[in-house]
Amino acid sequence: GNSRQRQLIELHEKANELFHHLLVRTKAGVEALDYLLERGLTMELIEEFQIGFAPNERQFLVQVFENEAYDSELMKESGLFVQRDGGTFVDRFYQRIMFPIRNAQGKTIGFSGRLLKTEKFPGTDQPKYLNSPETELFNKRLVLFNFDKARSTIRKEGEVFLFEGFMDVIAAWQAGIKNGIASMGTSLTNQQLSAIERVTKELVICYDGDSAGIEATNRAIELLNENSRLHLSVVSVPEGRDPDEYLRKYGEEAFKELALHGRETVFTFKMRYHRVNRNLQNEKEQLDYIQDLLQELVSVASPIEQDMYLTQLSTEFQVSRESLQEQLRSLKQESR
Ligand code: ATP
Ligand code: MN
Ligand code: MN
Ligand code: MN
Repeated sequence: GNSRQRQLIELHEKANELFHHLLVRTKAGVEALDYLLERGLTMELIEEFQIGFAPNERQFLVQVFENEAYDSELMKESGLFVQRDGGTFVDRFYQRIMFPIRNAQGKTIGFSGRLLKTEKFPGTDQPKYLNSPETELFNKRLVLFNFDKARSTIRKEGEVFLFEGFMDVIAAWQAGIKNGIASMGTSLTNQQLSAIERVTKELVICYDGDSAGIEATNRAIELLNENSRLHLSVVSVPEGRDPDEYLRKYGEEAFKELALHGRETVFTFKMRYHRVNRNLQNEKEQLDYIQDLLQELVSVASPIEQDMYLTQLSTEFQVSRESLQEQLRSLKQESR
């Protein structure tokens, strides 16, 4: 990169060191550290991910950088500060657990800060996560959390796990699943997809098990089918939990079992998805359900898989295979 970018990276690396130091070695970080340890993180993980804490002060970083005589244009461009009327800088992030976001080369280019609620700081009406704004360095459409550290394992294992949250990626890492990534709270972009596709052809969607996560899974499947050649499977986390919650409740072994052996095909996911809010005892709703699934079958490429699912549907709903096949054929014609 150019020298401007190098300077911006230096600012971020410095901020990251400060936040991390504050979390693990100072009194100002004690509440945040307790919170993280309470949640089941270890010091080792906190080191590994260089997690930090931005204290409840409006000019913590500002003072450090102004003392070191950093150029105010640079400070402005970094996105780490907000300018008040009159021009004074204040810190963008305060009272937040800081996750450094790194580029493919492992350099810190932005942050995501998770609000730490305390008695003194209830943080009502503050968003749970706050991301760095778009800057010359930080482009949400390009970056994938943990991609730098996960890449070698993704190659080795031949697959990548896509999670919703940073805490899920970190939990998976703790369980020994080091090929997990997450987007920045948005759906994947084509740029991110091509970055992934350069490393693997196999993607496992492991979003939260709540209804928002199930909807997001369905959207991700549609998006990935349309815009990538990735082969997909789905891990559905039971009881509406997210992967991190599941690991905390049932332990690392159970988590690994779920992630490695609890996968379902996209079609099996769709069978559950289209069942939501439908009463299959009702004849009309049953017909709609079958119709939706046949529509999904149109995009199942493998004839063997298609055959398997047709048999499944035919057995479950006591409809002849021939009529299902017939219907599928006409849907295929329509979709041309
Ligand atoms: P925690 O376990 O600490 O509550 P989480 O990862 O389970 O965190 P979710 O609410 O499930 O958090 O959100 C998943 C992801 O969506 C987050 O990691 C973050 O990237 C993004 N996200 C959530 N809330 C916001 C927000 N208010 N603004 C921007 N991004 C958000
Ligand atoms: Mn969620
Ligand atoms: Mn979650
Ligand atoms: Mn969570």
